[in-house]
Amino acid sequence: MSTPRQPRETRAGLEPLAVLPVFVPLQDKRAVLAGSNGGAPWKVKLLAAAGARVDVYAEEPSDELRGVPAEIAAGSVTLHERRWTPEDLQGAAFAIGAMEDEDDCVAFVAAARAAGAIVNAVDRPHLCDVKFGAIVNRSPLVVGISTEGAAPVFGQTVRARIEAMLPRGFKHWVAAARDWREAVSARFHGFSERRGFWERFTDRAFAEPDRTPTEADLADLMGQAEALPLGGAVTLVGAGPGDAELLTLKALRALRNADVILYDDLVAPEILDYARREARTMLVGKTGHGPSCRQDDINALMVSLAKSGKQVVRLKSGDPLVFGRAGEEIEACEAAGIPCTIVPGVSAAQGAAASLGVSLTHRDAARRLQFVTGHDRRGALPEDLNWGALADKSVTTVVYMPKRTLRALLERAVAEGLAPETPALVVFNATRAKQATVAGTAADLADRIEASELEGPALLMVGEALRRHNARSAEQGMGIRAEAS
Ligand code: SAH
Repeated sequence: MSTPRQPRETRAGLEPLAVLPVFVPLQDKRAVLAGSNGGAPWKVKLLAAAGARVDVYAEEPSDELRGVPAEIAAGSVTLHERRWTPEDLQGAAFAIGAMEDEDDCVAFVAAARAAGAIVNAVDRPHLCDVKFGAIVNRSPLVVGISTEGAAPVFGQTVRARIEAMLPRGFKHWVAAARDWREAVSARFHGFSERRGFWERFTDRAFAEPDRTPTEADLADLMGQAEALPLGGAVTLVGAGPGDAELLTLKALRALRNADVILYDDLVAPEILDYARREARTMLVGKTGHGPSCRQDDINALMVSLAKSGKQVVRLKSGDPLVFGRAGEEIEACEAAGIPCTIVPGVSAAQGAAASLGVSLTHRDAARRLQFVTGHDRRGALPEDLNWGALADKSVTTVVYMPKRTLRALLERAVAEGLAPETPALVVFNATRAKQATVAGTAADLADRIEASELEGPALLMVGEALRRHNARSAEQGMGIRAEAS
């Protein structure tokens, strides 16, 4: 046995950013646009839509630019039919150069910077302090999109997708949130209570996006939040086998609500991206091989964090109640009087069956489904497995943690009466990008696995239910199959 390792704090890394997205409030502020090139009218409309008082200076405004003041729904626009002067920039929060002439634009940008304005120049990225992106507008919810000039068409398509994804009614919900914010803060003083309220509010918005929320929603949501227990709690959450889209809505909510997340090595890293940015994440890894944290240490850490008032998520791969030692964690919570709830997850067997398109209980092949561990406490083949059940012709067996004992397990099952030609396979990294399958029979699978040198979490599946799958992969001439997921 290797020495146990200690729980370890981890940080989500930040990938390089091509540009920093920031949002500029312009309500009732002064903005200046000078010139009348093709981009000018739209920019004036944007500034006005953001609530700015816009002064436009253009010696010879285009007809389109002339029409703008009559078209705006917010802010105000005044058109001055003359050249701009440096004095015009006094008190401007935002300035846009939209002139044809480069030298004129350079002079304008310098004057605008001297006046303390944020500066943009239409079609002249080299003169810009800030650049405009594509917008999805559900104000007060605003989404800005940039490819930093790399791929405008790509950016437009992303914009269209987001546009389709965000119901129009979100603007009413976000506006209600703005209007209710103060009342909610006055009613709930604790961070997690307030957060609980807003989580429920958001869930309701997503469930009924096209309904405009009313005061009755506010009262109802407040009542719900009050009914919740205060103080720290533990939630055992199933992270599923890897693909983040297999998370349940409850798991997502628990992740968004967590102060601290204690997770295992087997939890796919992308799942942690769904946590709140401020949440502490701690790897309390148990890998099955290599050093592990002691279960007692994990229990103690979990309980002490919850006792200090934290919302603790104990994030486990697959389903927490399948080979996850959840029993000990639930007991530790009970013993300490900490409320503990469980959010189920998609177990590795289910994820693997779905990606392989295998019905585990196909009527022609299986009457039973059994989940079996390939490890005992010491990591050896468990002596007390029910060998009769493993040799049963009408069962589909899924073996978790099969790697070290695979050969011994299959040999023994065959010795106990399992037909050697029974279809068997191992799935590595089920539902993940590097998913790969090695198909064979109870008699030859161990050799095939050894030859494959594949790595990653793996499941062994045995039974007639796999016959179609294995026949298909043999047809395609692949004992080993790497699937793109
Ligand atoms: N609670 C988990 C199982 C934890 S035991 C669940 O319900 O899935 C750990 C074992 O699960 C691993 O040794 C491996 O056998 C299996 N496993 C977990 N994720 C897997 C994946 N993505 N692909 C294949 N097997 C996986």
